[in-house]
Amino acid sequence: MTTIFSKIIDKSIPADILYEDELALAFKDINPQAPIHFLVIPKKAIATINDIEEADKTLVGHLYWVAAKLAAEMGFAQDGYRAVMNCNEHGGQTVYHIHLHVLAGKALGWPPYQDKLKPKLV
Ligand code: AMP
Repeated sequence: MTTIFSKIIDKSIPADILYEDELALAFKDINPQAPIHFLVIPKKAIATINDIEEADKTLVGHLYWVAAKLAAEMGFAQDGYRAVMNCNEHGGQTVYHIHLHVLAGKALGWPPYQDKLKPKLV
């Protein structure tokens, strides 16, 4: 399944890209939920956490490596941040191409609980 993130990967729609390599892309979230909010995605289209295969384990670890690298370079690693993936409807997932949300720039509340479902984005 292609999603809006496939179009960001192939550059057919613009994004504010922070990092790119052969496996992953990081770009600013269009609707930030914290002073710093970007997404780290694999170039391989994997719909949800449930679809991660054994062969993808290194790739998923790579997403966290990119998050930590950017946290260090952008200067918020020591203050701290959150790096999370939402899964399916109850997890609040709207784009069905896995992505790590990286949120930073303020003390974040926990749990990040919103008692409502969000529509799927295509
Ligand atoms: P989720 O709800 O966990 O699936 O997160 C999807 C995220 O993608 C949301 O935070 C959206 O704001 C973000 N998003 C959707 N479209 C774009 C886009 N074109 N560029 C950047 N971020 C986007």
